Amino acid sequence: MRSVSVLGATGSIGESAFDLLMRAGGPEAFRTVALTGAANITRLAEMARALRAEIAVTALPEKLGALREALAGSGIEAAAGPEAVAEAGARPADWVLSAIVGAAGLPPGLEVLRRGGTLALANKESLVAAGRLVMDQAAQNGARILPVDSEHSAVFQALQGENLDSVAAVTITASGGAFRDWPLERLARASVAEASAHPNWAMGQRITIDSASMFNKALEVIEAHEFFGLSCDRIKVLVHPQSIIHAMVSHHDGGSIAHLGAPDMRHAIGYALHWPQRRALPVAPLDLASLGSLTFRAPDETRWPALRLAREVILAGGAAGAVLNAAKEQALDDFIAGRCGFMDMAPAVERVLAACAGQPGFATSPGDLATVLEWDGMARRLAAVRQAGAA
Ligand code: NAD
Ligand code: MG
Repeated sequence: MRSVSVLGATGSIGESAFDLLMRAGGPEAFRTVALTGAANITRLAEMARALRAEIAVTALPEKLGALREALAGSGIEAAAGPEAVAEAGARPADWVLSAIVGAAGLPPGLEVLRRGGTLALANKESLVAAGRLVMDQAAQNGARILPVDSEHSAVFQALQGENLDSVAAVTITASGGAFRDWPLERLARASVAEASAHPNWAMGQRITIDSASMFNKALEVIEAHEFFGLSCDRIKVLVHPQSIIHAMVSHHDGGSIAHLGAPDMRHAIGYALHWPQRRALPVAPLDLASLGSLTFRAPDETRWPALRLAREVILAGGAAGAVLNAAKEQALDDFIAGRCGFMDMAPAVERVLAACAGQPGFATSPGDLATVLEWDGMARRLAAVRQAGAA
């Protein structure tokens, strides 16, 4: 029986993974090692009981008592705190899904790679913040990373049996998010509630707002660069409002291979779960006749400056990804808390990138977790100070 762990089990991706594991037979089909979550203790305990996990971990130390209580009588171990989340990644399991949101996903993901495990990676932030470190750690330990971000899963699938040298460009699509068709002058006044409503995908709040600002696509361009080793001129973004084509690989011979499917993350998660096989998944079949048409447009970088920042970060290399990711997380915190406007996020990230670029060591890719966290901390402080100064 295969063993699995899900880090960030209580989130949007985690719930989809749980659904797939339960439909596949739950504890009769998989041995669940660890499930992790944060504030939602009731749901974490429910999932751990349903899958008969060995251990349930909350990232919040103050929730340990509540978790123990919720697991009473089940025989499931309880633990709490960021170190315990990292240890959950270190526990041997055949397949570990990292579905934690933000840079907090980096330490447990690195633990999976350190022991040579298979990491199904939804947590794009770890590749953005520490792409070189993550890829090196995987190569050195014979670990495998399977992309779960839908566009990267699509590229990965389209590349099966292909040679990267024959690839002219990879195109990842973007729905355009909540504000695709808003007049530009209205964007400055966009509210958190308005930014949190995605037209096509049901996702966590942070990635939904990042979709409206295109920071999600900016992270994905960097993710594609780090994971597939493509230069930024070979990674294109295409606005495609219907979210049916997820990505396309274009070859030098003029042929392009596209990946199509309903916008349902259970496809990408399930593909990674069963890889290298394909199994039936509870995803609606594609019905192009009823869709009628698919439309496309080039992204407008006045509306979405994050895309330009992604290219600049790839060209800068070194610590730029760690800085961009952390400054973006801080700017997003500030937007959600009402401390800055929707269109203030990209300029804030750009200012932090400029400030960090002058610091010693910026041009060197962080070689260990501590260095990533130093840049991450500096970027968050600079972003927060700027906000305070601007207020
Ligand atoms: P979410 O907010 O719904 O869930 C996040 C999970 O991480 C929860 O289980 C939460 O408890 C846990 N978590 C939050 N803060 C934590 C911390 N500090 N330490 C440890 N755990 C913590 O997020 P989501 O939408 O499921 O996204 C998860 C990841 O997958 C993100 O990296 C996102 O970019 C990526 N992703 C999501 C989707 C999607 O459809 N939701 C698609 C592609 C990629
Ligand atoms: Mg995606």
